[in-house]
Amino acid sequence: MEDKQRVVIAGAGLVGSLLSVFLIKRGYEVKVLEKRSDPRKSMRSEGRSINLALSHRGLRALEAADAELPSRVLSEAVPMYGRQMHDEQGHLSFQPYSSTNECIYSVSRSGLNNCLINTAEQQGVSFLFEHSIAQTDFASKTIQVHHQGQLISISAPVLLAADGSFSKVRASLEVQGLCRSTLEKIDHGYKELDIPSDKGVLLEPQTALHIWPRGEYMLIALPNFDHSYTGTLFLPFNDTNQELSFQELDNESSIHRFFDNHFSDASALFTDLAKQYLNNPTSYLANVFTDRWAFGSWLLIGDAAHGIVPFYGQGMNAGFEDCRLLDELLTQHNHNFEGAFHAFSTNRKKDTDAIARLAMDNFIEMRDLVADERFLLQKKIEGALTKALPTQWKTLYSEVTFSDTPYSEALARGKRNQLIMNEIMNDPALDLTNWQEKEMWDRLLYKVQRAVGL
Ligand SMILES: Cc1cc2nc3c(=O)[nH]c(=O)nc-3n(C[C@H](O)[C@H](O)[C@H](O)COP(=O)(O)OP(=O)(O)OC[C@H]3O[C@@H](n4cnc5c(N)ncnc54)[C@H](O)[C@@H]3O)c2cc1C
Repeated sequence: MEDKQRVVIAGAGLVGSLLSVFLIKRGYEVKVLEKRSDPRKSMRSEGRSINLALSHRGLRALEAADAELPSRVLSEAVPMYGRQMHDEQGHLSFQPYSSTNECIYSVSRSGLNNCLINTAEQQGVSFLFEHSIAQTDFASKTIQVHHQGQLISISAPVLLAADGSFSKVRASLEVQGLCRSTLEKIDHGYKELDIPSDKGVLLEPQTALHIWPRGEYMLIALPNFDHSYTGTLFLPFNDTNQELSFQELDNESSIHRFFDNHFSDASALFTDLAKQYLNNPTSYLANVFTDRWAFGSWLLIGDAAHGIVPFYGQGMNAGFEDCRLLDELLTQHNHNFEGAFHAFSTNRKKDTDAIARLAMDNFIEMRDLVADERFLLQKKIEGALTKALPTQWKTLYSEVTFSDTPYSEALARGKRNQLIMNEIMNDPALDLTNWQEKEMWDRLLYKVQRAVGL
């Protein structure tokens, strides 16, 4: 490269900040415009999840951006080896994520974001906080930005829009007739509720994602580094079935009754449960689908291109993977933005569509099936198959969470595996206890080997 190419990134969230580290290392001049004030200087919560699950794809991208990043991020992360299930009677059962002890990590959103901004800044990225993009003009490659009460114009020959699910850049490209997007809200919303450290130590094990599955709704809790937990209640916004919706839970007594009836072993863990409940926002969840991400030297990336519901814990991981894949494409296309952006948009969309679908399916699995005996039996058999046939059989969860397999391939293999498992689970000779007996195990192993072509 002769002159330093100037690159503008919209949004200093998780994806924009990581992307800026990749791009500064390529030798570009990188500016990041962010509507918030500098998050490192404020304790204000953004009204988003306080912690989130980081897994293989995200870690791999962090490492590709900067070899120091994984250890920095993991120094304050809590490993989670599986799901700790709480039934309505308070009985517990643990479901490991992997038969080889692999784990995902609970990390603080703000800690991770600040770490990425610091790393980027140290390497020369400039962050312009309190710069809120209002609109764009694709023809002149300029963006209009609100800053300190003024509307200023900034030239952006190369623009990467990482301004989240409600992307202003995407909206303004739509107005200019360049793309179309849909934001599909689901019927359930979520509300976060804190469990402080002194109560959190009672919720064992700390190295698990806790789930209280209740069919139409569920409560989950992810551990924080200081032994506190962040609980999240997922519930329909409205429901005809009294009590079971955010709309119905609007006073202290109905809130206490609801938690005591349905989450009896959790309700005492929250401090000032009803107060927290009434003060904390109820937020909605949505999938974002955009028909086009690349516009010459402008690109939508991360949630701005493909926001998804959080039930597979993959939104950020997918966004981080976007950054790594784009970086590889820039190398393959010899720094040609248009070529790399076009290839990225063309290759990647099938994968983000697949993870959107998997995330919706996992919502049903988490809130419903995880408490079902036949489902649990299937999970045990699948775990044993992974050990018996390590190269031929991987669980869908493992392909999504612990590998780089493109999401669309994981989805296709998951469908094949489900068909095989349906045949096994429908075997009239199989019951809840006999699957490990030699004759039964040989029989189901034979069926699987035949189905996968061994
Ligand atoms: C409840 C919940 C739980 C989740 N849990 C997980 C999980 O466990 N694992 C996981 O992988 N993912 C999870 N996700 C998804 C994850 O949060 C997102 O995928 C991720 O934050 C996307 O990063 P992003 O940078 O693309 O967008 P964002 O994080 O939304 O960042 C966008 C940035 O752009 C800025 N911005 C917005 N508009 C403008 C503007 N007009 N001008 C300038 N700047 C602007 C915003 O202030 C923000 O800083 C969860 C999401 C939710 C809602």
